Amino acid sequence: MKIHILTLFPSFFEGPFSCGIVGRAREKGLVEIRTVNIRDFTSDPYRSVDDYPFGGGSGMVMKVEPIWRAVESVRDGKELVILLTPQGRTFTQKLARELSQCEHLVIICGRYKGVDERVTSFVDMELSIGDYVLSGGEPAAVVLVDAVVRLLPGAVGDKDSVDTDSFERNLLEAPLYTRPREFMGMKVPEILLSGNHEEIRKWRMKESLKRTLERRPDLLEHAELTEEEKKILEKLKEEKDGPHSCI
Ligand code: SAM
Repeated sequence: MKIHILTLFPSFFEGPFSCGIVGRAREKGLVEIRTVNIRDFTSDPYRSVDDYPFGGGSGMVMKVEPIWRAVESVRDGKELVILLTPQGRTFTQKLARELSQCEHLVIICGRYKGVDERVTSFVDMELSIGDYVLSGGEPAAVVLVDAVVRLLPGAVGDKDSVDTDSFERNLLEAPLYTRPREFMGMKVPEILLSGNHEEIRKWRMKESLKRTLERRPDLLEHAELTEEEKKILEKLKEEKDGPHSCI
């Protein structure tokens, strides 16, 4: 996969993309990440990338032409151009999966008050990482790239680890424990020490469903559950609602 990040602050990405899973994926040649400085695509002597908004108001707006030229400079016919904006479609694990199938992502980071509306005419997708406003698209690009790159085959050693993560099946992952067996009186659930793989599998399934029901019941509306999971969920719901009373 190839990723181009169009930004006014290329140095922002030096740290985040040089370590951990993304850093290793780059070393292994699974992904090539390049930054493009939008300022290099200005045409005036001051290399200005922003201007006052038409109609007045506070803040500066990023100009359309440098962004357009920067996008054109990296097009190869296989690109998917993404504009990062709090007004876009919300980024999810499902979308991260879809984007991980792409050959070439071009990500535009806005700054200031945002970008000239006409930028939306040459992008394929507008993406938000959540309902809050960042001062620039760069932190959002780090989130997007990290979530996508870790899904590339070979990026994470154990594929199962990624497949059982939260949101993969619209469920939250079951609780995790490691040594020591006891910490300040809190013990690791006995079942996890039993070596009984079938019982552990059932326990994890139940805990995952329980956690999702408690914390994110909205996810369950879209979860494709097995018959076994459906039965457990029904039981959990009954337990949660308590015994029905006619009084
Ligand atoms: N005035 C804009 C608005 O209210 O919609 C917000 C502009 S924000 C200060 C500057 C830039 O940060 C945006 O152009 C976008 O690239 C990026 N940004 C801010 N919040 C974001 C979010 N939740 N998701 C993705 N990008 C975001």
